[in-house]
Amino acid sequence: MMNRRDSLKVALGASAALIVPSLVSAGPDAAMAQTIAPPAFTLPPLGYALDALEPHIDAETMRIHHELHHAGYVKNLNAIVSDNPSLAGMPMAKTLRAIDKLPSGIQDSVRNNMGGHWNHSLFWQLMAPGGAKEPSGKLKAGIDEAFGSVAAMQDAVNKAGLSRFGSGWAWLGVGTQGKLVVFSTPNQDTPHMVAGVRGGVIGVDVWEHAYYLKHRSARSAYLSAWWSVVNWDKAGEAYERLLA
Ligand code: MN
Repeated sequence: MMNRRDSLKVALGASAALIVPSLVSAGPDAAMAQTIAPPAFTLPPLGYALDALEPHIDAETMRIHHELHHAGYVKNLNAIVSDNPSLAGMPMAKTLRAIDKLPSGIQDSVRNNMGGHWNHSLFWQLMAPGGAKEPSGKLKAGIDEAFGSVAAMQDAVNKAGLSRFGSGWAWLGVGTQGKLVVFSTPNQDTPHMVAGVRGGVIGVDVWEHAYYLKHRSARSAYLSAWWSVVNWDKAGEAYERLLA
């Protein structure tokens, strides 16, 4: 057990060092505490209050989505990692891009739970209360070049989300040629798994858990509302990172 804990500490760096002493001091038996490994993956904070995106995205949907759905992916992922510690030391993007190379016994569960963790970690950042109302700079220029207008790009993303049967995501991303492209992924698949795609700029969760409390079955109403809370600054940063 020491070996596994030590390897996780190396993979996690300073953050693990903050967790381990608190576990040791919390328990009456120091030897017992040493067998508890810190979690390899943790639920990131939203960065804003649950009700900050009201009235577009309601607080109860945000709470369930973040504290139950996303937390569930993190919990499942850590359970997989406890049996497959090498996953903890590898960047998620690398694992997700090579998902087909993983042992067949864990491939689906990593795909779903690491994919879910990666997608949602981005998703919370891609929303913001009171942010810019439209894209600017290089992202605006790229959108105009690829789609003609921001509205036309939004229509394309909405169509991708509406035509995704069942659960998944609608994306604006950068293709391998550096041009902006729209696509969708099933379930918790990430842009890393899509041929011809360099990465995601904007990802909209179109699982029913993202909108059913407020919008019931009206996915199109949710998609319209979603564009009212998009964090264009984060999207712009993601775009410029993918062009670099
Ligand atoms: Mn979700």
